[in-house]
Amino acid sequence: MFDYLIVGSGLAGTTSARLLAEFGKKILVIEKRLHPGGNVYDYYNEHGILVHKYGPHIFHTNYKDVWDFLSRFTEWRNYQHRVLSYVNGQYLPMPINLDTINKLYNTNYNSFTIPHFFNKVKEDIEINNSRDMVISKVGVELYELFFKGYTKKQWDLYPEELDKEVTARIPIRYNRDDRYFTDKYQGIPINGYTNMINNMLVHENICILLKTDYKEVVNWIEYKKMIYTGPIDYFFDYKYGKLPYRSLEFKFETLDQKYYQQVGTVNYPNDYDFTRITEFKHLTGQKSMKTTIVKEYPKEEGEPYYPIPRKENVDLYNLYKKEADKLDNIYFVGRLAKYKYANMDVVIKDAIELVKEVEG
Ligand code: FAD
Ligand code: UDP
Repeated sequence: MFDYLIVGSGLAGTTSARLLAEFGKKILVIEKRLHPGGNVYDYYNEHGILVHKYGPHIFHTNYKDVWDFLSRFTEWRNYQHRVLSYVNGQYLPMPINLDTINKLYNTNYNSFTIPHFFNKVKEDIEINNSRDMVISKVGVELYELFFKGYTKKQWDLYPEELDKEVTARIPIRYNRDDRYFTDKYQGIPINGYTNMINNMLVHENICILLKTDYKEVVNWIEYKKMIYTGPIDYFFDYKYGKLPYRSLEFKFETLDQKYYQQVGTVNYPNDYDFTRITEFKHLTGQKSMKTTIVKEYPKEEGEPYYPIPRKENVDLYNLYKKEADKLDNIYFVGRLAKYKYANMDVVIKDAIELVKEVEG
């Protein structure tokens, strides 16, 4: 008899499992993939380069408790992610900052004069969607160069068709800070995410069953409570219809050269069919005569990587949530179960709070 059956071994499942195990609870984690870790899984490819199987993952948070929790299971490589956007044949800092503007327009603004520029171009509008969000900060021209094409490629929707939270993820800077994130705590697990996840799972109270969809075995397992981190619509057999998710195809290439690009990620808002190229050695700090890059090609079908934040989807999710709220002793946490475009730290924070609620 297990105290908890946890469906999914991503960060939501693994965090819950570890914390509950430390409360003395007996845990069974069931994972349908061949490996634990969910979308943060990384591995050494045949050229010995550490790569992220489901796309580049950079950890960043302002939550001290989340950082402290993970730091029990890994040391960190101090890494601050930098991104360039390939626009009009130039590689320009993204998020848009002072240097982006000066390079794009061949101007000489400084941090005192740049507000004049932004005040001139930005539009004073009510913010109802992801297009408004950008235009209210930088105006139409920069929106069209940096956001419109990227968003259409990534979501197959125009920014006006998406909730404002999507482009609100990207700030606009009036200074020269060219980091993608400015959170207090940032880094990459020094031996990789998989190593960190495995350290979390190594506990005498945790068993894990891989390569198994929980529905295949759930009726044969005795457990008191369940934590579910898979897609919420699947849990309810799609009774209200399928929630849309956006998927990606990752194409990896290993090249016989030390480095391919200047920074961790280069975004391609207007050229090519992929959205961005990431070079893992920048993230991991690994030394090698070869380098591996990944190109991300958005697609409709496939693994559910991104919930799609727009009203009709949130309405559909709320129907499922209502059902979920009626269930005793079954808890929904994580990006898929809450249908929330959440970063790693938010998912971990939610799992920590959930465990406090049920056992604390
Ligand atoms: P998941 O990692 O999706 O884990 C869910 C697990 O449940 C999976 O392993 C799945 O196989 C399993 N599962 C599902 N259904 C079943 C079932 N029926 N039976 C058994 N098991 C099941 N966040 C950041 O903070 N920084 C980043 O740089 C970043 N980059 C990202 C890049 C990409 C391309 C993507 C897609 C996401 C990125 N994220 C990033 C977000 C991050 O991946 C998520 O916040 C986090 O991994 C979510 O963890 P989770 O446990 O909720 O979900
Ligand atoms: N975005 C954009 N241009 C960029 C970067 C981001 O239009 O150069 C928009 C796009 O809609 C994207 C969203 O902002 O999906 C969030 O970007 P982020 O880099 O946070 O995406 P993620 O890493 O989650 O895929």
